[in-house]
Amino acid sequence: MANELILIIEDNEKNRKLIRDVLQVKGYPTLETETAEEGHNLAVEKHPALILMDIQLPGMDGITALKRLRADPMTKSIPVIAITASAMTYNRLTMLAEGFDGYQSKPISVKEFLEEVRRVLDAHQDKAKVS
Ligand code: MN
Repeated sequence: MANELILIIEDNEKNRKLIRDVLQVKGYPTLETETAEEGHNLAVEKHPALILMDIQLPGMDGITALKRLRADPMTKSIPVIAITASAMTYNRLTMLAEGFDGYQSKPISVKEFLEEVRRVLDAHQDKAKVS
C-alpha cells in the first residue's frame, strides 16, 4: 500500500517538485522542506515513514543531518534515502557506509526511484516485525 507519509528534504525546487509529483501519483502523501534543520523538526512532529535527503543543502548538509536524526530518539528509526547530485563523489556504497538506508543519484530515474522507495519502506517494515 502506497499510503506512507514521505518527507522530502531538497533545496532544488525543480527536483523537489518532480519527486513530489512522482510520489503523489503513486498515492504517497508528502511533506517537504528546503533545509535539514526544518526537516528534523518536521520529522519529530509528523513522524514520516521515510525521509528523502538531499546531500547538498543550504546550512546543514544531508550527511550531518542524518547523524542528527540518528542521535535523536524521536527520529532515529526513520529510514532515510540519500539523494545525491554528483555520482562522481558519492555512490551507493559510500552512502550506505554513512548510514543511509538507500541511495538515488540525480537526475532520478522515475522507475528506479519508486522501486528504491518501496524497497526501503518494505525493508523497514520487515525489520519492525522481527524486533
Ligand atoms: Mn541540493
